[in-house]
Amino acid sequence: MVSRRDALLNLAPLLNRAPGSADEVVGEGRLEPDAEVLEADDLVLAGPLAWGVTVRNTGGDDDFLVEGWVSGTAHQECRRCLTDVLTEARAEFVMPMAYLPSEEGLRLDEVADDDEERLVFGQPEVDFAPLLAQLFAIELPLTALCREDCKGLSLDGVNLNEHPELVEEDRAARADESPFEVLKDIDLTS
Ligand SMILES: [Zn+2]
Repeated sequence: MVSRRDALLNLAPLLNRAPGSADEVVGEGRLEPDAEVLEADDLVLAGPLAWGVTVRNTGGDDDFLVEGWVSGTAHQECRRCLTDVLTEARAEFVMPMAYLPSEEGLRLDEVADDDEERLVFGQPEVDFAPLLAQLFAIELPLTALCREDCKGLSLDGVNLNEHPELVEEDRAARADESPFEVLKDIDLTS
């Protein structure tokens, strides 16, 4: 069992049949992904991601099953008023995994025989951080609202939640700018 700020698991005990080998490797921790990983998934986290991963030998020589979860809180922008919104999410996953010795780290197998997605790792030491961050990011809603009835921004960029007295004024201003207003000026008789 590991518990630290990264998500590295040493799967070497699963790879050999020698005494001291194991049928499963379990890890959990609180992950602070590096900037590169966060950028790849367009993530802004409010704190570390909690995670747990179990990798089991499924009986074949190099075939494994990875089961895990990741949860945390991300900053998102309200789609109407652009203020900061904190969104909690939790992802759970089960995926087949295979060991194909190479220089490469954990990756999705693109040449699997069937349509099923498979993870492949080339080194016994596996960094699960990019996978965990990606699965967490997928679980987040595409857009967020600070509240159901968010009034959004006025044409001048004023937050109407903070200035509800401007809502009517803004509505009138928008009516003036409506693209349909232009249609009034088109002479349909010509
Ligand atoms: Zn809002």
